[in-house]
Amino acid sequence: MNRKDFIQRASALGLGVFFLPSFITGCSEEDDIPTFNVNFDGDVLIIGAGAAGITAGYALQQYGINFQILEASGVVGGRMKAIDNFADFPIDLGAEWIHTNPNVLAKLINDESINTDIGIINYKPESLQVWKNDELKKRNFYTNFYGEYKFKNTTWFSYFNDFFVPQIQSNIQLDTVIRSVDYSGERVLVTDQNGNEYTADRLIITVPVTVMQDGDITFNPPLPTNKTQAFSRINMPDGIKVFIEFSEKFYPDMMFDGPLFEALSDTEGEKIYYDAAFRKDSNRNILGLFSVGEPSSQYARITDDNELIQFILNELDERFDGTPSRTYIQHVTQNWSQEPFIRGSYTHNGEVEDYETMAASVNNKLFFAGETYHTENTATVHGAAQTAYAAVEELLLNRA
Ligand SMILES: Cc1cc2nc3c(=O)[nH]c(=O)nc-3n(C[C@H](O)[C@H](O)[C@H](O)COP(=O)(O)OP(=O)(O)OC[C@H]3O[C@@H](n4cnc5c(N)ncnc54)[C@H](O)[C@@H]3O)c2cc1C
Repeated sequence: MNRKDFIQRASALGLGVFFLPSFITGCSEEDDIPTFNVNFDGDVLIIGAGAAGITAGYALQQYGINFQILEASGVVGGRMKAIDNFADFPIDLGAEWIHTNPNVLAKLINDESINTDIGIINYKPESLQVWKNDELKKRNFYTNFYGEYKFKNTTWFSYFNDFFVPQIQSNIQLDTVIRSVDYSGERVLVTDQNGNEYTADRLIITVPVTVMQDGDITFNPPLPTNKTQAFSRINMPDGIKVFIEFSEKFYPDMMFDGPLFEALSDTEGEKIYYDAAFRKDSNRNILGLFSVGEPSSQYARITDDNELIQFILNELDERFDGTPSRTYIQHVTQNWSQEPFIRGSYTHNGEVEDYETMAASVNNKLFFAGETYHTENTATVHGAAQTAYAAVEELLLNRA
Protein backbone atom coordinates (compact mmCIF):
# COMPACT_ATOMS: atom_id res chain seq x y z
CA MET A 1 0.00 0.00 0.00
CA ASN A 2 1.45 3.39 -0.89
CA ARG A 3 0.62 6.84 0.49
CA LYS A 4 -2.17 7.38 -2.04
CA ASP A 5 -3.79 4.04 -1.35
CA PHE A 6 -3.97 4.85 2.36
CA ILE A 7 -5.87 8.03 1.63
CA GLN A 8 -8.18 6.53 -0.92
CA ARG A 9 -9.05 3.60 1.32
CA ALA A 10 -9.58 5.82 4.33
CA SER A 11 -11.90 8.05 2.29
CA ALA A 12 -13.80 5.06 0.92
CA LEU A 13 -14.37 3.86 4.46
CA GLY A 14 -15.78 7.25 5.42
CA LEU A 15 -12.88 8.27 7.60
CA GLY A 16 -13.00 11.74 6.14
CA VAL A 17 -10.24 13.65 4.54
CA PHE A 18 -7.42 12.02 6.43
CA PHE A 19 -6.46 8.61 7.50
CA LEU A 20 -5.31 7.31 10.81
CA PRO A 21 -1.75 6.18 11.44
CA SER A 22 -3.02 2.75 12.39
CA PHE A 23 -3.95 2.30 8.75
CA ILE A 24 -0.37 2.74 7.80
CA THR A 25 1.02 0.49 10.46
CA GLY A 26 -1.11 -2.47 9.48
CA CYS A 27 1.19 -5.34 8.49
CA SER A 28 -0.90 -8.46 8.30
CA GLU A 29 0.00 -12.07 8.86
CA GLU A 30 -0.28 -12.40 5.08
CA ASP A 31 2.94 -10.41 4.86
CA ASP A 32 4.79 -13.27 6.57
CA ILE A 33 7.13 -15.14 4.26
CA PRO A 34 5.66 -18.63 3.77
CA THR A 35 7.62 -21.84 4.05
CA PHE A 36 6.93 -24.66 1.60
CA ASN A 37 8.35 -27.85 0.16
CA VAL A 38 10.68 -27.36 -2.80
CA ASN A 39 9.86 -29.40 -5.88
CA PHE A 40 12.59 -28.00 -8.16
CA ASP A 41 16.31 -28.67 -8.55
CA GLY A 42 17.17 -26.70 -11.69
CA ASP A 43 18.78 -23.28 -12.13
CA VAL A 44 17.32 -19.80 -12.51
CA LEU A 45 18.17 -16.53 -14.27
CA ILE A 46 16.90 -13.22 -12.95
CA ILE A 47 16.72 -10.05 -15.06
CA GLY A 48 17.21 -6.88 -12.97
CA ALA A 49 18.90 -6.18 -9.63
CA GLY A 50 16.41 -3.81 -8.00
CA ALA A 51 14.51 -4.70 -4.83
CA ALA A 52 12.68 -7.56 -6.55
CA GLY A 53 15.68 -9.07 -8.36
CA ILE A 54 17.89 -8.91 -5.28
CA THR A 55 15.18 -10.45 -3.09
CA ALA A 56 14.49 -13.20 -5.64
CA GLY A 57 18.18 -14.14 -5.66
CA TYR A 58 18.37 -13.99 -1.87
CA ALA A 59 15.30 -16.23 -1.53
CA LEU A 60 16.65 -18.74 -4.05
CA GLN A 61 19.94 -18.76 -2.13
CA GLN A 62 18.05 -19.60 1.04
CA TYR A 63 16.66 -22.67 -0.74
CA GLY A 64 20.04 -23.66 -2.18
CA ILE A 65 19.02 -23.05 -5.81
CA ASN A 66 21.64 -21.96 -8.38
CA PHE A 67 20.86 -18.58 -9.92
CA GLN A 68 22.41 -15.63 -11.70
CA ILE A 69 21.19 -12.02 -11.74
CA LEU A 70 21.74 -10.04 -14.95
CA GLU A 71 21.53 -6.27 -14.42
CA ALA A 72 21.62 -3.69 -17.22
CA SER A 73 23.16 -0.81 -15.30
CA GLY A 74 26.52 -0.61 -13.52
CA VAL A 75 24.97 -0.68 -10.04
CA VAL A 76 22.48 -2.67 -8.00
CA GLY A 77 19.39 -1.13 -6.43
CA GLY A 78 17.27 0.00 -9.39
CA ARG A 79 14.89 2.64 -8.04
CA MET A 80 16.71 2.53 -4.68
CA LYS A 81 19.77 4.77 -4.67
CA ALA A 82 21.57 6.60 -1.88
CA ILE A 83 24.33 9.15 -1.39
CA ASP A 84 26.26 9.60 1.83
CA ASN A 85 28.50 12.53 0.87
CA PHE A 86 25.88 15.28 0.54
CA ALA A 87 24.82 15.76 4.17
CA ASP A 88 25.75 14.32 7.57
CA PHE A 89 23.20 11.56 7.06
CA PRO A 90 22.64 9.30 4.04
CA ILE A 91 20.04 10.47 1.54
CA ASP A 92 17.63 8.33 -0.48
CA LEU A 93 17.52 9.56 -4.08
CA GLY A 94 14.81 6.99 -4.81
CA ALA A 95 12.58 5.10 -2.38
CA GLU A 96 12.71 6.72 1.09
CA TRP A 97 9.57 6.10 3.19
CA ILE A 98 8.57 2.76 4.67
CA HIS A 99 4.93 2.59 3.64
CA THR A 100 3.98 -0.17 6.06
CA ASN A 101 4.82 -1.52 9.49
CA PRO A 102 8.64 -1.50 9.76
CA ASN A 103 8.52 -5.09 11.00
CA VAL A 104 8.40 -5.90 7.28
CA LEU A 105 12.18 -5.30 7.28
CA ALA A 106 12.80 -8.34 9.50
CA LYS A 107 10.18 -10.37 7.66
CA LEU A 108 11.87 -9.81 4.31
CA ILE A 109 15.28 -10.81 5.69
CA ASN A 110 13.53 -13.97 6.84
CA ASP A 111 16.44 -15.21 8.94
CA GLU A 112 16.12 -15.15 12.70
CA SER A 113 19.88 -15.54 13.15
CA ILE A 114 20.40 -12.05 11.70
CA ASN A 115 20.14 -8.99 13.95
CA THR A 116 17.55 -6.79 12.25
CA ASP A 117 17.52 -4.05 14.84
CA ILE A 118 17.31 -1.12 12.42
CA GLY A 119 16.75 2.44 13.69
CA ILE A 120 13.41 3.78 12.50
CA ILE A 121 11.91 7.27 12.60
CA ASN A 122 8.26 7.60 13.41
CA TYR A 123 7.64 10.01 10.56
CA LYS A 124 4.96 12.29 11.90
CA PRO A 125 5.61 15.84 10.69
CA GLU A 126 4.83 18.53 13.28
CA SER A 127 4.51 21.59 11.05
CA LEU A 128 2.64 21.43 7.79
CA GLN A 129 1.90 24.16 5.25
CA VAL A 130 -0.06 24.34 2.04
CA TRP A 131 0.59 26.71 -0.85
CA LYS A 132 -2.82 27.84 -2.00
CA ASN A 133 -3.93 30.91 -3.97
CA ASP A 134 -0.38 32.30 -3.90
CA GLU A 135 -0.30 32.12 -0.11
CA LEU A 136 1.38 29.80 2.40
CA LYS A 137 -1.06 28.59 5.03
CA LYS A 138 -0.35 26.61 8.20
CA ARG A 139 -2.29 23.38 8.52
CA ASN A 140 -0.59 21.87 11.56
CA PHE A 141 -3.70 20.12 12.89
CA TYR A 142 -3.64 17.78 9.90
CA THR A 143 -0.45 16.26 11.25
CA ASN A 144 -2.55 14.54 13.94
CA PHE A 145 -3.84 12.26 11.23
CA TYR A 146 -0.72 11.52 9.31
CA GLY A 147 2.15 9.20 10.06
CA GLU A 148 4.57 6.89 8.29
CA TYR A 149 8.05 5.55 8.89
CA LYS A 150 11.56 6.26 7.68
CA PHE A 151 15.03 4.95 8.33
CA LYS A 152 16.96 6.85 11.01
CA ASN A 153 20.59 6.36 9.98
CA THR A 154 20.33 4.25 6.88
CA THR A 155 18.35 4.08 3.61
CA TRP A 156 16.26 1.64 1.60
CA PHE A 157 19.29 1.17 -0.64
CA SER A 158 21.61 0.35 2.27
CA TYR A 159 19.07 -1.99 3.82
CA PHE A 160 19.35 -4.16 0.68
CA ASN A 161 23.02 -3.50 0.16
CA ASP A 162 23.91 -4.49 3.74
CA PHE A 163 21.56 -7.40 4.41
CA PHE A 164 20.91 -9.02 1.03
CA VAL A 165 23.61 -8.16 -1.51
CA PRO A 166 26.68 -9.49 0.39
CA GLN A 167 25.12 -12.95 0.42
CA ILE A 168 24.54 -13.02 -3.34
CA GLN A 169 27.21 -10.63 -4.67
CA SER A 170 29.05 -13.25 -6.72
CA ASN A 171 25.80 -14.16 -8.52
CA ILE A 172 25.18 -10.61 -9.80
CA GLN A 173 26.49 -9.58 -13.22
CA LEU A 174 26.29 -5.84 -13.93
CA ASP A 175 26.33 -3.95 -17.28
CA THR A 176 24.32 -6.74 -18.89
CA VAL A 177 21.38 -5.41 -20.91
CA ILE A 178 19.07 -8.24 -21.82
CA ARG A 179 17.72 -7.91 -25.35
CA SER A 180 15.94 -11.21 -25.99
CA VAL A 181 14.36 -14.16 -24.24
CA ASP A 182 13.74 -17.42 -26.04
CA TYR A 183 11.61 -19.83 -24.02
CA SER A 184 10.59 -22.09 -26.89
CA GLY A 185 13.01 -24.88 -25.94
CA GLU A 186 13.66 -27.07 -22.93
CA ARG A 187 15.75 -24.32 -21.29
CA VAL A 188 15.24 -20.56 -21.40
CA LEU A 189 17.83 -18.76 -23.55
CA VAL A 190 18.59 -15.14 -22.73
CA THR A 191 20.81 -12.87 -24.86
CA ASP A 192 22.47 -9.59 -23.85
CA GLN A 193 23.52 -6.47 -25.78
CA ASN A 194 26.84 -8.07 -26.79
CA GLY A 195 25.28 -11.30 -28.01
CA ASN A 196 26.35 -13.26 -24.93
CA GLU A 197 23.97 -16.09 -24.16
CA TYR A 198 22.78 -17.39 -20.79
CA THR A 199 20.56 -20.41 -20.21
CA ALA A 200 18.56 -21.71 -17.28
CA ASP A 201 15.50 -23.81 -16.48
CA ARG A 202 13.49 -20.81 -15.31
CA LEU A 203 13.62 -17.02 -15.69
CA ILE A 204 12.41 -14.32 -13.29
CA ILE A 205 11.82 -10.94 -14.97
CA THR A 206 11.88 -7.86 -12.71
CA VAL A 207 12.31 -4.96 -15.15
CA PRO A 208 10.08 -1.85 -14.84
CA VAL A 209 6.86 -1.77 -16.86
CA THR A 210 8.34 0.89 -19.19
CA VAL A 211 10.95 -1.63 -20.34
CA MET A 212 8.24 -4.18 -21.09
CA GLN A 213 6.06 -1.60 -22.87
CA ASP A 214 8.87 -0.26 -25.05
CA GLY A 215 9.89 -3.72 -26.28
CA ASP A 216 13.48 -3.53 -25.00
CA ILE A 217 13.29 -7.31 -24.62
CA THR A 218 11.88 -9.48 -27.40
CA PHE A 219 10.24 -12.80 -26.54
CA ASN A 220 10.09 -16.01 -28.52
CA PRO A 221 7.35 -17.16 -28.55
CA PRO A 222 5.72 -13.75 -28.08
CA LEU A 223 4.15 -13.12 -24.68
CA PRO A 224 0.40 -13.86 -24.47
CA THR A 225 -1.70 -11.04 -25.93
CA ASN A 226 -3.64 -10.43 -22.70
CA LYS A 227 -0.31 -9.87 -20.94
CA THR A 228 1.04 -7.39 -23.49
CA GLN A 229 -2.31 -5.58 -23.49
CA ALA A 230 -2.22 -5.34 -19.69
CA PHE A 231 1.32 -3.90 -19.88
CA SER A 232 0.19 -1.30 -22.39
CA ARG A 233 -2.66 -0.11 -20.14
CA ILE A 234 -0.42 0.65 -17.14
CA ASN A 235 0.93 4.15 -16.66
CA MET A 236 4.39 4.80 -15.20
CA PRO A 237 4.76 8.60 -15.27
CA ASP A 238 7.72 10.87 -14.52
CA GLY A 239 9.46 10.94 -11.15
CA ILE A 240 12.06 13.20 -9.62
CA LYS A 241 13.77 13.91 -6.31
CA VAL A 242 15.80 16.98 -5.40
CA PHE A 243 17.63 17.79 -2.17
CA ILE A 244 18.74 21.35 -1.41
CA GLU A 245 20.90 22.49 1.48
CA PHE A 246 20.26 25.96 2.95
CA SER A 247 22.03 27.90 5.69
CA GLU A 248 18.67 28.53 7.42
CA LYS A 249 15.61 26.41 8.10
CA PHE A 250 12.81 28.60 6.77
CA TYR A 251 10.50 25.74 5.69
CA PRO A 252 8.03 23.52 7.57
CA ASP A 253 8.37 19.77 8.08
CA MET A 254 6.13 19.24 5.08
CA MET A 255 4.62 21.47 2.39
CA PHE A 256 1.97 20.62 -0.20
CA ASP A 257 0.53 22.52 -3.14
CA GLY A 258 -3.16 23.33 -3.18
CA PRO A 259 -5.87 22.07 -0.85
CA LEU A 260 -4.23 19.32 1.15
CA PHE A 261 -6.66 16.55 0.46
CA GLU A 262 -6.60 17.30 -3.26
CA ALA A 263 -2.80 17.32 -3.21
CA LEU A 264 -2.64 13.97 -1.45
CA SER A 265 -5.46 12.26 -3.27
CA ASP A 266 -4.64 13.52 -6.75
CA THR A 267 -4.50 10.28 -8.68
CA GLU A 268 -2.35 11.89 -11.36
CA GLY A 269 0.66 12.37 -9.08
CA GLU A 270 2.22 13.91 -6.00
CA LYS A 271 4.45 16.82 -5.09
CA ILE A 272 5.81 17.31 -1.58
CA TYR A 273 8.51 19.54 -0.18
CA TYR A 274 9.74 18.12 3.12
CA ASP A 275 12.43 18.51 5.73
CA ALA A 276 14.72 15.63 4.77
CA ALA A 277 16.62 15.96 8.08
CA PHE A 278 13.43 15.53 10.14
CA ARG A 279 14.30 13.52 13.29
CA LYS A 280 17.71 12.58 11.85
CA ASP A 281 20.84 13.25 13.92
CA SER A 282 21.74 16.30 11.86
CA ASN A 283 22.22 20.04 12.23
CA ARG A 284 22.09 20.62 8.48
CA ASN A 285 19.11 22.20 6.72
CA ILE A 286 18.19 19.87 3.86
CA LEU A 287 14.92 20.39 2.02
CA GLY A 288 13.66 17.51 -0.13
CA LEU A 289 11.39 17.71 -3.15
CA PHE A 290 9.60 14.49 -4.04
CA SER A 291 7.38 14.55 -7.09
CA VAL A 292 5.89 11.87 -9.31
CA GLY A 293 3.31 11.89 -12.06
CA GLU A 294 1.74 14.97 -13.58
CA PRO A 295 3.15 17.54 -11.09
CA SER A 296 6.67 16.19 -11.62
CA SER A 297 6.76 16.63 -15.39
CA GLN A 298 7.48 20.38 -15.10
CA TYR A 299 10.76 19.40 -13.36
CA ALA A 300 11.53 16.13 -15.14
CA ARG A 301 11.51 17.72 -18.58
CA ILE A 302 14.30 20.17 -17.59
CA THR A 303 17.46 18.25 -18.41
CA ASP A 304 19.93 21.03 -17.57
CA ASP A 305 20.75 20.82 -13.85
CA ASN A 306 21.43 24.58 -13.42
CA GLU A 307 18.15 25.41 -15.11
CA LEU A 308 16.31 22.93 -12.90
CA ILE A 309 17.66 24.25 -9.59
CA GLN A 310 16.96 27.83 -10.68
CA PHE A 311 13.38 26.85 -11.55
CA ILE A 312 12.93 25.28 -8.10
CA LEU A 313 14.60 28.19 -6.26
CA ASN A 314 12.31 30.63 -8.08
CA GLU A 315 9.30 28.61 -6.97
CA LEU A 316 10.54 28.58 -3.36
CA ASP A 317 11.54 32.28 -3.42
CA GLU A 318 7.94 33.15 -4.24
CA ARG A 319 6.80 31.32 -1.12
CA PHE A 320 9.53 32.44 1.26
CA ASP A 321 10.29 36.02 0.12
CA GLY A 322 13.62 35.27 -1.55
CA THR A 323 15.17 33.52 1.46
CA PRO A 324 15.82 30.29 -0.49
CA SER A 325 18.09 31.94 -3.08
CA ARG A 326 19.81 33.97 -0.35
CA THR A 327 20.56 30.94 1.85
CA TYR A 328 21.16 28.29 -0.87
CA ILE A 329 24.32 26.20 -0.36
CA GLN A 330 24.15 23.14 -2.64
CA HIS A 331 21.77 20.66 -4.24
CA VAL A 332 21.56 17.21 -5.77
CA THR A 333 18.95 16.01 -8.27
CA GLN A 334 17.76 12.58 -9.33
CA ASN A 335 15.58 12.48 -12.42
CA TRP A 336 14.19 8.95 -12.65
CA SER A 337 12.63 9.65 -16.02
CA GLN A 338 16.14 10.05 -17.45
CA GLU A 339 17.47 6.75 -16.07
CA PRO A 340 17.89 4.60 -19.22
CA PHE A 341 16.70 1.33 -17.65
CA ILE A 342 13.94 2.80 -15.45
CA ARG A 343 12.33 5.71 -17.42
CA GLY A 344 9.79 6.93 -14.88
CA SER A 345 8.62 6.65 -11.28
CA TYR A 346 6.31 3.71 -10.60
CA THR A 347 3.01 2.31 -11.82
CA HIS A 348 -0.09 4.43 -11.27
CA ASN A 349 -3.82 3.76 -11.29
CA GLY A 350 -3.77 0.29 -12.83
CA GLU A 351 -6.70 -2.13 -12.55
CA VAL A 352 -6.15 -5.10 -10.23
CA GLU A 353 -6.94 -7.49 -13.11
CA ASP A 354 -4.15 -5.94 -15.17
CA TYR A 355 -1.65 -6.31 -12.32
CA GLU A 356 -2.67 -9.97 -11.98
CA THR A 357 -2.35 -10.57 -15.71
CA MET A 358 1.08 -8.92 -15.83
CA ALA A 359 2.24 -10.99 -12.86
CA ALA A 360 1.03 -14.36 -14.17
CA SER A 361 3.78 -16.82 -15.00
CA VAL A 362 4.08 -18.12 -18.57
CA ASN A 363 4.46 -21.82 -19.40
CA ASN A 364 6.02 -22.47 -15.96
CA LYS A 365 9.20 -20.93 -17.44
CA LEU A 366 8.82 -17.16 -17.12
CA PHE A 367 8.02 -15.61 -13.74
CA PHE A 368 7.51 -11.93 -12.96
CA ALA A 369 8.38 -9.94 -9.85
CA GLY A 370 8.66 -6.25 -8.93
CA GLU A 371 6.51 -3.28 -8.03
CA THR A 372 4.73 -3.69 -11.36
CA TYR A 373 3.46 -7.08 -10.31
CA HIS A 374 1.90 -6.46 -6.87
CA THR A 375 -1.86 -6.02 -6.80
CA GLU A 376 -1.85 -4.13 -3.47
CA ASN A 377 1.60 -2.83 -2.61
CA THR A 378 2.40 -1.34 -5.99
CA ALA A 379 4.83 1.55 -6.02
CA THR A 380 6.69 0.34 -2.93
CA VAL A 381 9.94 -1.40 -2.14
CA HIS A 382 8.42 -3.86 0.28
CA GLY A 383 5.73 -4.71 -2.29
CA ALA A 384 8.39 -5.38 -4.93
CA ALA A 385 10.27 -7.67 -2.51
CA GLN A 386 7.09 -9.51 -1.53
CA THR A 387 6.35 -10.31 -5.18
CA ALA A 388 9.85 -11.79 -5.44
CA TYR A 389 9.13 -14.19 -2.59
CA ALA A 390 5.80 -15.04 -4.26
CA ALA A 391 7.46 -15.70 -7.63
CA VAL A 392 10.15 -17.84 -6.01
CA GLU A 393 7.52 -19.81 -4.13
CA GLU A 394 5.53 -20.48 -7.31
CA LEU A 395 8.69 -21.42 -9.18
CA LEU A 396 9.97 -23.80 -6.50
CA LEU A 397 6.60 -25.48 -6.00
CA ASN A 398 6.87 -26.32 -9.71
CA ARG A 399 3.21 -27.20 -10.06
CA ALA A 400 2.90 -27.23 -13.84
C1 LIG B 1 11.09 9.05 -6.96
C2 LIG B 1 10.66 7.75 -6.34
C3 LIG B 1 10.33 7.73 -5.00
C4 LIG B 1 9.91 6.53 -4.41
N1 LIG B 1 9.63 6.53 -3.07
C5 LIG B 1 9.31 5.37 -2.47
C6 LIG B 1 9.18 5.32 -1.06
O1 LIG B 1 9.34 6.32 -0.38
N2 LIG B 1 8.90 4.11 -0.49
C7 LIG B 1 8.75 2.97 -1.23
O2 LIG B 1 8.49 1.89 -0.66
N3 LIG B 1 8.89 2.99 -2.59
C8 LIG B 1 9.17 4.16 -3.21
N4 LIG B 1 9.36 4.19 -4.56
C9 LIG B 1 9.08 2.99 -5.35
C10 LIG B 1 10.19 1.97 -5.26
O3 LIG B 1 11.43 2.59 -5.49
C11 LIG B 1 9.97 0.88 -6.30
O4 LIG B 1 8.65 0.37 -6.15
C12 LIG B 1 10.93 -0.30 -6.16
O5 LIG B 1 12.23 0.13 -5.85
C13 LIG B 1 10.91 -1.06 -7.47
O6 LIG B 1 11.74 -2.20 -7.39
P1 LIG B 1 11.74 -3.25 -8.60
O7 LIG B 1 12.74 -4.28 -8.28
O8 LIG B 1 10.36 -3.66 -8.92
O9 LIG B 1 12.19 -2.40 -9.88
P2 LIG B 1 13.54 -1.60 -10.16
O10 LIG B 1 14.08 -1.03 -8.91
O11 LIG B 1 13.21 -0.65 -11.25
O12 LIG B 1 14.56 -2.71 -10.68
C14 LIG B 1 14.51 -3.18 -11.99
C15 LIG B 1 15.94 -3.37 -12.49
O13 LIG B 1 15.88 -3.91 -13.82
C16 LIG B 1 16.98 -3.37 -14.52
N5 LIG B 1 16.73 -3.52 -15.97
C17 LIG B 1 15.89 -2.81 -16.75
N6 LIG B 1 15.95 -3.24 -18.03
C18 LIG B 1 16.84 -4.26 -18.05
C19 LIG B 1 17.33 -5.12 -19.08
N7 LIG B 1 16.91 -5.03 -20.36
N8 LIG B 1 18.26 -6.06 -18.75
C20 LIG B 1 18.71 -6.18 -17.48
N9 LIG B 1 18.27 -5.40 -16.46
C21 LIG B 1 17.34 -4.45 -16.75
C22 LIG B 1 17.05 -1.93 -14.07
O14 LIG B 1 18.31 -1.35 -14.32
C23 LIG B 1 16.73 -2.08 -12.57
O15 LIG B 1 17.91 -2.19 -11.79
C24 LIG B 1 9.82 5.36 -5.18
C25 LIG B 1 10.20 5.38 -6.54
C26 LIG B 1 10.60 6.56 -7.11
C27 LIG B 1 11.00 6.57 -8.55
